[in-house]
Amino acid sequence: MPVRATKRGAERTPLEGDWDVVVCGASFAGLAVARELGGSGARVLMVDRYEIGERQTSACAAPTEWLVNLGLERSIRQTFRDLVVHAPARTFRWTLPWTFSTFDYRELCTLLGAQGDFRFETATVSGKSSFAGRNASGAAPGDVTPRNASGAAPGDVTIHTDRGDLSAPLVVDALGWRRVLGGGANVQPPEAFLSRGLEVHPDAAGRDLELWLDPKYVRAGYAWSFPADGELRVGVGSFDPRDHVKQPTVELARDVDVPAVRFQGNWIPHRIRAATDGDVFFAGDSAGHCLPTTAEGIRTALYFGLACGRELRAVVAGERTREEALARYAAFSRSHAWKFGALLRTQDAVGRVNPTPLMTPLLRAMSSPRLIRWAFGAYLAIAPPSFALEGRDPLASPPVGAPVPAPVGTATP
Ligand SMILES: Cc1cc2nc3c(=O)[nH]c(=O)nc-3n(C[C@H](O)[C@H](O)[C@H](O)COP(=O)(O)OP(=O)(O)OC[C@H]3O[C@@H](n4cnc5c(N)ncnc54)[C@H](O)[C@@H]3O)c2cc1C
Repeated sequence: MPVRATKRGAERTPLEGDWDVVVCGASFAGLAVARELGGSGARVLMVDRYEIGERQTSACAAPTEWLVNLGLERSIRQTFRDLVVHAPARTFRWTLPWTFSTFDYRELCTLLGAQGDFRFETATVSGKSSFAGRNASGAAPGDVTPRNASGAAPGDVTIHTDRGDLSAPLVVDALGWRRVLGGGANVQPPEAFLSRGLEVHPDAAGRDLELWLDPKYVRAGYAWSFPADGELRVGVGSFDPRDHVKQPTVELARDVDVPAVRFQGNWIPHRIRAATDGDVFFAGDSAGHCLPTTAEGIRTALYFGLACGRELRAVVAGERTREEALARYAAFSRSHAWKFGALLRTQDAVGRVNPTPLMTPLLRAMSSPRLIRWAFGAYLAIAPPSFALEGRDPLASPPVGAPVPAPVGTATP
C-alpha cells in the first residue's frame, strides 16, 4: 500500500532524501514498476506532479484480459467484443478474438497503486544529475558511503524537483512523452515523433466501441467514441502533429449528438526510443512504448513497466547489478522495435489512404473474420496479457477488502 504525503500550498515543504528506487510518474507505467517492487523490501519513492489518478490521460480502453490478470477488473466500466469501424461509404462491425474494456482511471490507479509498497509525494520533476565517481554496480541499499551535498552516494542518480533533490541508485522515468530525464535536447512538437489526441467526456451512454476512418474528421488519423457506463469518450487523433484536432472533435461530438464538454488531450509518441539512457530506466510513453497506428499505450505502459520493475526487483535482491539490469531491460525493449516499426509503416499507409476513396474497399477486404482473428491475435501478442501473470504473484497483495479475482489465461467474453 502506498503511503501518501501530498503537500499543497504552504504545506509544500522541502522534499529530499536517499531512496533505493525513485519512480517518477504515477500513471500506468510508473504504477506497474512499483507493483513489481511490492514486498521486495526496497524503499521506493514515487513522485508525480498530481495526485495518483487525479488527471485522466486517455480514453482508458485496454484489453480486458490485461485488466483482469492485474486484478484491476473492479475499475472496468464496459466491455466490448465488437469494434464498429466507420469508413466514409460504409460501416463495418468486426468481431474481435478478445475483448476491450473501458475503465475508470482513478479507480484503476488506486487498485494498481495498492499492489505496491511505496511512499508517494507530489513534486514536479525537472531533471537529473549523476554523482561523479559512481561505481559500476550502483550503491547497494544500506551502504555506508561518502555522500554529496544532496545526500547522494556514488552511483546514485539525483533527481531535481520543485521541492528539492532526491537520490537513488535506481531511477525510472515514467513521466510520459516529455522524457524529462532523457539526455540531449528535448525535442518538442511538432518536430518530435508525436501524434496528438483530444477528446470530450460528456455524460452519455453508448453500446459500441466505435472508430471513424474518415477524412472529414482527420486526414491522417482516426476518430473514436468509447462508452464507459454513463460517460462517452469522444475524440480525434492525428498522426501529424501539425494538424489540429479541436474543431474535428467538436464536429464529431455534434455528429454523435453529445455536448463537447470536459476536454482532455495530450501528445502521443509514435516512435519507440531507447528504454535506458545512462543510468535511468524509461517505461511507457517516455520510451515511445505506445503502439503506432492505434495509439494504444496503456497496455504497453503496463507491460514495459512490469518488465522494468522485475529488473529493478532483481537488483534489489542482489541477483544482478544495476548495469546488468539496464542492459537486459534495454535489450527487452529493443526486441520489440521491429513490431513498433511495422505498425509505424501501417500508420504512414493509413495517413496516405485515408484521404482517398480506397479506404472503404480496403476495410471491406480486411473484414474477413479469419483475417480479423489473425491480425488482432498478432496485435495482442505484441504485449500479451499472460505477461501480467509472470514475475511476482499478481494476487500477492490484493487491495484490502477486494474480492480475490481469478487470473485468466484466455480472452474473457
Ligand atoms: C486523447 C487520448 C486518448 C487515448 N486513449 C487511449 C486508450 O483508450 N487506450 C490506450 O491504450 N491508450 C490511449 N492513449 C495513449 C495513453 O494515454 C498513453 O500511451 C499512456 O497514458 C501512457 O502511460 P504512461 O504511464 O507512460 O504516461 P502518462 O499516462 O502520460 O503518465 C505520465 C505521468 O507523469 C506525470 N508527469 C509528467 N510530467 C511530470 C513532471 N515533470 N513531474 C512530475 N510528474 C510528471 C503526469 O502527471 C502523469 O501522471 C490515449 C492518449 C490520448 C492523448
